Amino acid sequence: MADFRKTVANMIPSPLVKIFASPYVSGDSMEKALSKVDSLFREKRILSTIDILGEAEKSKEKVLGAVSQYEKTLDAIKERNYSSISIKPSQFGYYIDPNFCKENIERVVSKALSQNTLVTIDMEDIDLTDYTLNLYCELKPKYPNVGTVLQSRLFRTEKDIDRLDGLKAHIRLCIGIYTVSKDLAYTKKKDMKENLLKLLRKLFEKGHFVAIGTHDVKYLRKALEIIDEMKIPKEMREFQMLMGVPRDAMQRELVEKGENVRLYVPYAVSWSDAMAYLRRRMAESPSMTLLVLKNLFKRS
Ligand SMILES: Cc1cc2nc3c(=O)[nH]c(=O)nc-3n(C[C@H](O)[C@H](O)[C@H](O)COP(=O)(O)OP(=O)(O)OC[C@H]3O[C@@H](n4cnc5c(N)ncnc54)[C@H](O)[C@@H]3O)c2cc1C
Repeated sequence: MADFRKTVANMIPSPLVKIFASPYVSGDSMEKALSKVDSLFREKRILSTIDILGEAEKSKEKVLGAVSQYEKTLDAIKERNYSSISIKPSQFGYYIDPNFCKENIERVVSKALSQNTLVTIDMEDIDLTDYTLNLYCELKPKYPNVGTVLQSRLFRTEKDIDRLDGLKAHIRLCIGIYTVSKDLAYTKKKDMKENLLKLLRKLFEKGHFVAIGTHDVKYLRKALEIIDEMKIPKEMREFQMLMGVPRDAMQRELVEKGENVRLYVPYAVSWSDAMAYLRRRMAESPSMTLLVLKNLFKRS
């Protein structure tokens, strides 16, 4: 089913993706993202992490454009301590030259440190796992404001956690969105989510901060039970969800319990740069699958 959804999402023409996907993107400018971030905090006490959409960039000029757009965004959130940023190595030039990518990431992380803003390095497909983790382990001792992501679908993640010993890492833990072959990763969502709970315990045992990134209410509740049982202090955890996924009631419940909740708030400078992210969101959305199935039925 997941592969079917992906295939369908990839076939839909871009203008339709744009219409369908509007809940998942704050807009086409930094100002629109800031306005979203402000209203989330003012009205719901919800924190944000801003992402500028773009990935797999092959042009140096566009990479440097993204880097300076992130710098502008950092300036804008200097006084907004309820917002952080999320970045992707493939948008920062990994496919041009991994060293160029590292320089760009360090440039942004170091600026962010000067204003005490958290930068999370997103985890992309399996080709980037080693690079991202190596870079994270190198940067973290120098830049305490840097975090990264671990994907519970990957068999390797349990061992990867051991590499973080002594770093007091800042980890977003999620199942992972990129398809990985079955010799390297779980293929059933239930297995990915059970592993997420196992890895959550391990990260907490080792004293790392964990942002739990899931919309699955059943597993959110199981994570809360683990937090209770392990007596994890509030400053060592938070809950993260994607803007546009309808989880208002759960977010409210968590905030009322005193939990920190952070939404991933993307904005697009160019819509073509946004398409890959939007198509992934479409493939995850149950309503899109229904819509597609209904249309297939109508035609037959
Ligand atoms: C803040 C944040 C950052 C992330 N960063 C990364 C990253 O760096 N790398 C990475 O690989 N993955 C990342 N992800 C994606 C993540 O790995 C999952 O693919 C995604 O969260 C869906 O998994 P789930 O645990 O919510 O479970 P699912 O079973 O996919 O979703 C649970 C329920 O949520 C609802 N739902 C989920 N998605 C949608 C949607 N698009 N529209 C409508 N309803 C939906 C459905 O009702 C579904 O049944 C991130 C997720 C979050 C929340």
